[in-house]
Formats: sequence, C-alpha cells, structure tokens
Amino acid sequence: RERNGHEPEFLQAVQEVAETVIPYIAQHDIYNGKNILLRMVEPERLISFRVSWVDDSGEIQVNRGYRVQMNSAIGPYKGGLRFHPTVNASILKFLAFEQVFKNSLTTLPMGGGKGGSDFDPKGKSDNEIMRFCHAFMTELYRHIGHNTDVPAGDIGVGAREIGFMFGMYKKLNNTFTGVLTGKGQSWGGSLIRPEATGYGNVYFAENMLKTRNESFEAKKVVISGSGNVAQYAAEKAIELGATVLTLSDSGGYILDEDGIDSEKLKFVMDLKNNKRGRISEYLDKYPNAKYFSGERPWSVKCDIALPCATQNELNGEEAKTLVENGCICVSEGANMPSTPEAIHEFHKANILFAPGKASNAGGVATSGLEMSQNSLRLSWTREEVDERLKEIMKNIHNSCVEYGKNDDGSVDYVRGANIAGFVKVADAMLAQGVI
Ligand code: NDP
Repeated sequence: RERNGHEPEFLQAVQEVAETVIPYIAQHDIYNGKNILLRMVEPERLISFRVSWVDDSGEIQVNRGYRVQMNSAIGPYKGGLRFHPTVNASILKFLAFEQVFKNSLTTLPMGGGKGGSDFDPKGKSDNEIMRFCHAFMTELYRHIGHNTDVPAGDIGVGAREIGFMFGMYKKLNNTFTGVLTGKGQSWGGSLIRPEATGYGNVYFAENMLKTRNESFEAKKVVISGSGNVAQYAAEKAIELGATVLTLSDSGGYILDEDGIDSEKLKFVMDLKNNKRGRISEYLDKYPNAKYFSGERPWSVKCDIALPCATQNELNGEEAKTLVENGCICVSEGANMPSTPEAIHEFHKANILFAPGKASNAGGVATSGLEMSQNSLRLSWTREEVDERLKEIMKNIHNSCVEYGKNDDGSVDYVRGANIAGFVKVADAMLAQGVI
C-alpha cells in the first residue's frame, strides 16, 4: 500500500485478491513465510516510453506507451494493449495483475502482462491510426517476442490496430512469428478469436445458470458497451434464446424493448466497427428504441446483466437496483466493471456473480489457441476452436466451484477464481526459487 498508494485501480484489484488469498495462504504451510503475494504484486518489469507521431495536419504529437510485464512464472507474458486517454500505470498494473490469475485459470501456459497508451483513437483517420501504431511498435518491438511476451487487443485496439502493429514488428525483425494475437485470418489469426471473449462470457454464465437449473432461454439480458466483447456477448445470448435489451458506449445507452435481434445487432456491428459511429445513432435506424444520454443501463429490469464496457462501471447503488429488479445473474465481460460495493450487494443477495478474471478468460484462452496454431503452422476449424473454448470455460467454472464452494452449497466465484488462479502461479514461483 505504501509503495502503490497513488494507484487506486491497482490497489482495488490487489485488495480483492488479497482478501480471499491471504486466508488461504494462512491455512497452507507451503505458502507461509515466502512473501509470495508480496512478490506477485510487484511487476517483473514496467516499461514506459515516448511515442512521437505526425498527425494529418503535419503536427508532431507525443503520447506515452507502456508495457507491464507482471509475471512469467508459468509462461511468456500475455495480455492486451489498450489505447484510451485514461490509460496510466495504475490501470495497466491492475489489468496485468488480473491477467496473471486469469491466464492461470485457462490452464494454458501463459504469464500475465498488459500495455497500451494514453492515445485516443476517437476521431482519428485511418492514416493517423497507422502512423501511431507504427510509432508505438518501433519501441515495443524490443521488449516482446513469441517466446517472451505476446500482446493482443483490448479497448481501442482491434483487428485494424493489430494489423498495423504486426506489420511494423515484422519489418523491424524480419521474421514472421505469432508475436501478437487477434491477427487477421489470412496472416495467422485464429477463427473465433474475435468472438471469444463475448461468447466465453455467455458460456460461463450458462454454466453458472445450470447450477440453479436455469438457462438463457427467454431471459431478459442487459449489456453495457458496444465494442468487441459486448457485440459477441449479445450475439451468443440471442442465439441461446434470450432478449437483449440494451447496449451502450461512453455517451449513454440504448434501450430496445422489442429486443436487439440478429439483424439489429448486425447494424450495430457495422456502425461501431466500420463507420466508427456512436450508439445513439441506433435510433436513426430503429426509432422505437430509446436513448439515455450520459446514463448506464443498470436500472433496466432484467434477469441477467453482462457488464462489457470498462472498469468500475457498476456501483453499489446500481447493483442494489439490479437485485431489487429481480436480476439473478451478473457475469463480467469487462475487467473489474463491478466496484467492491457492487460485489458485496451481489453476494449479500446470493445471486450468481462471476468476476471477469474467470468469465472473460475466453478471449485470452483463444489467444493461447492462436499461439498453438501459429507454432504448429496449422489452422483449426471454427467448430474445433469453439468446442475448445466451451470446454475451457466449463473447466474454469469447475475450478471456481472447487475452490469457491461455501458451506451452504452456494459458490463464491470471486474466492474460487482467485485461489484457483493463485495456486498454479504460486507453485511455479516456489519451484523456481527466489527470482
Ligand atoms: P472496445 O474498445 O471494443 O469497446 C469498449 C466499449 O466500452 C465501447 O463501447 C466503449 O465506448 C465503452 N467504454 C470504454 N470506456 C468507457 C468508459 N470510460 N465509460 C463508458 N463506456 C466506455 O473494447 P473491448 O470490447 O475489447 O473491451 C471491453 C472490456 O472487456 C474492457 O474492460 C476489456 O479490458 C475487457 N476485455 C476485453 C477482451 C478482448 O478480448 N477484447 C478480453 C478480456 C477482457 P466508446 O466507444 O464510447 O469508448
């Protein structure tokens, strides 16, 4: 706390893990007296660098780039790159710390990392995005590699940005390796990777619902965000027979009482991914829907809530409203979208609640599958990758149940995910000595 007092998001993420893991350490002699958690909260390396690039008017712009290499005990660092004006060391350290546990939960050999820049992609031309991504990679390339650190996308970094960064990495290294995941189909990408985080979140929620003899069929679902994770969570929920009522962006949310069906979702995907428009423009095409400027969707009555936008987007009061409105399941697509007060409300009401490090692990798991395919120089079919993703989400669910079962038979998925993730990394660190 003394060392990281100025980093509130990082402290929040560590506190949540510490509350469940410290009692576990106290009960297990092998972890006692080894300062294992103290070692885990200190990044192995934190790189910060200047990114200078030229905008369309010829002016030189300067941004700050980062890569946090948090923990490599069980494999090369792995985790996304975020381009958003709010990016700073605290946010990236919280994300990298979460990533260590998440990657461990997938059972694939991946350490944890995260990176990005305070660059704001909104309103930039394709050429500006390209120049920024190229400039960013001219420094990052010396710190990464397919056996060292394999970044992927996150907020503000999708297929377009991964393409530009991959191109520059390849040029600088003169090698074609799987150094980034989320690549395009024709140059090393995996089928299902774009869908994986959103689909995986719904698969995880399905597993939770099963424990209470419930499913997505005929359920009302509220989703926040309208980016990569939100879009595919919506697609899978619709496919499973649910009615998706909302989507949002940083401007506000849309509510479509008739349900956002597959056709309407296609419109949103085109609006967001190709036209780079705002969610409020949904009303131009579907005027029966409503738009709530500057608001979040948690007051809409629903059975299932899937927060898929950003950290701390669902607070204690909003959690109370969800519970009072009859919500039975909250499954996090984003990283740390629920505040500690919100999680407390969900636990108090004994509704199903999945923390992102378990429920959104499908994205990085499929990135791990992309790395395997790159190493094998093979491409698995859509069905094969989807089957593996389903299996991985089921296994993560089972691990959470194993470590998170309460005396009354209910499951604390937060405790379960934290301990299951911790054990594998801690065992590897102990085996490797004090390094
Ligand atoms: P995108 O950039 O594709 O979409 C982000 C969405 O969230 C947009 O709708 C965006 O709105 C909204 N958003 C971003 N910041 C804010 C904010 N401060 N307030 C309100 N809305 C906001 O990102 P992803 O879908 O990839 O990521 C969403 C979340 O999922 C993040 O927490 C990310 O870390 C997490 N995640 C992503 C994975 C992946 O595979 N992509 C894997 C695991 C987790 P706007 O357009 O207005 O900015």
